[in-house]
Amino acid sequence: MHESSIVEGILRIVSDEAARYGAARVSRVSLAVGLLACVEPRTLTACFELLAEGTPAQGAPLDVHLLPLRGACPACGDVETRKRNFSCPSCGHDAVHWTGGRELYIASIEVPSPDATDLPATAQTMEG
Ligand SMILES: [Zn+2]
Repeated sequence: MHESSIVEGILRIVSDEAARYGAARVSRVSLAVGLLACVEPRTLTACFELLAEGTPAQGAPLDVHLLPLRGACPACGDVETRKRNFSCPSCGHDAVHWTGGRELYIASIEVPSPDATDLPATAQTMEG
């Protein structure tokens, strides 16, 4: 499945970042996804929940933010839309030159503050 390989990539990055900052776990992951990235946010979060088990991201919510699509309209100039409707959102021109829309990147990774840790260090295991 498309989404599961994306989530595996995300979890690799999250685990690397958590290790780099010495965080045993992360509390939230925010993902920015272009309108045309061809991923289903609900499938992404479901995959994340499943595959995050046993990683520092276990139990952390995945926020998926859809990015607006930006384009250049011959009549209006720079425009952006959040709909998969490729005519100009302000004048209806259908010759808008859309750019991007296929972005998919981690916008932020939150780690709990050190004094908020509720897991004893010994509860961490690298097995599995
Ligand atoms: Zn326009």
